[in-house]
Amino acid sequence: MSRRIIPVADFSAAPIVSGRMQAPSGVLHDTLSRPLRDLRISVTDRCNFRCVYCMPRAVFDKDYAFLPHSALLSFEEIERLARLFVAHGVEKIRLTGGEPLLRKNLEFLIERLAQLTTPTGRPLDLTLTTNGSLLERKARSLRDAGLTRVTVSLDALDDTLFRRMNDADFSVADVVNGIAAAQAAGLAPVKVNMVVKHGTNDGEIVPMARHFKGSGAVLRFIEYMDVGTSNGWNMTEVLPSADVITRIAEHFPLAPLEAHSPAETAQRWGYVDGSGEIGVISSVTRAFCGDCTRARLSTEGKLYLCLFASSGHDLRALLRSSASDAEIATAVAEIWQGRSDRYSQLRGSQAAEAREKSGRRVEMSYIGG
Ligand code: SAM
Ligand code: SF4
Ligand code: SF4
Repeated sequence: MSRRIIPVADFSAAPIVSGRMQAPSGVLHDTLSRPLRDLRISVTDRCNFRCVYCMPRAVFDKDYAFLPHSALLSFEEIERLARLFVAHGVEKIRLTGGEPLLRKNLEFLIERLAQLTTPTGRPLDLTLTTNGSLLERKARSLRDAGLTRVTVSLDALDDTLFRRMNDADFSVADVVNGIAAAQAAGLAPVKVNMVVKHGTNDGEIVPMARHFKGSGAVLRFIEYMDVGTSNGWNMTEVLPSADVITRIAEHFPLAPLEAHSPAETAQRWGYVDGSGEIGVISSVTRAFCGDCTRARLSTEGKLYLCLFASSGHDLRALLRSSASDAEIATAVAEIWQGRSDRYSQLRGSQAAEAREKSGRRVEMSYIGG
């Protein structure tokens, strides 16, 4: 009999809407006064890569129970929720996954989302994070549908190492060509995300910096995080961002740059010769929970308030009941107003350790990065 693995995703409660309706006013604050500004929407839990730090093949194998299509939010459902989130103050929507470009006809969803405007009439910042493998083929249609920018993940330029890290035999050329196609299509500036695993790909930091310096793409180095439970995370495999900066600055002098906004996750550094910038996302060594304005909508419509949450709020149940827009908007308001999550700040504390022991954590591929 084949082994059936159930994804860690079923601890969510359907929100209960209280009697008093809360019409969206364009701004919502949580218990730590953080506004709701960003929404990440996972459009699929499937992926054509098996990155060792995200979907290790030993866990995400042929017996892994991915969600059936009927469980996924439809494009109509995503658009309806997105509209309500935007009315509550969301200005930026990022599509993610799994691999978002695997979702059939994704351009139709982008077309719908691109029509949304903020309460003050501004267009949304509509972007997408992808592993880049299908980008060469899709960049133009994504742009035509209304996507404004794209972030591409790339962990190494060395082809052997890259194939080992994605564990699905995709070549560096597939992704590099995807980045070029995105730039040519005007999805600029392209951001390139490299997850640094100490002892695995930290030797690629300087070659990656050299490659993208002056290219117009903004390379960002992400500290390897303890997301989910399947990647066997260990602190010894985290290379602090400070070390990344030191290593690059030995070859190419750098100077710190101002953040674009307080909620920006990356710290920016510019090449002093004026040939562009890089960013470091220090999720482990420098928690940025105090400015975290992000909500995450899982593939099956559960709302998560933190990347490290163990449970979400089942908005799909509301959508598929006879709930009105006013009721769903009220549920979203009540959920955000009750938010106190700040996992990275508490990492290592007793509270975090107690939760750790409970073993309940969603996977990045399910909740979206
Ligand atoms: N498949 C797409 C991709 O790889 O870009 C989108 C989804 S992926 C979950 C989003 C981002 O999360 C990627 O940049 C990936 O490198 C990052 N990521 C996944 N697991 C991570 C981990 N354990 N630590 C840090 N970043 C991680
Ligand atoms: Fe897939 Fe992205 Fe996770 Fe890699 S990081 S396995 S590409 S979802
Ligand atoms: Fe936001 Fe949670 Fe990450 Fe803190 S740990 S920055 S609250 S997602």
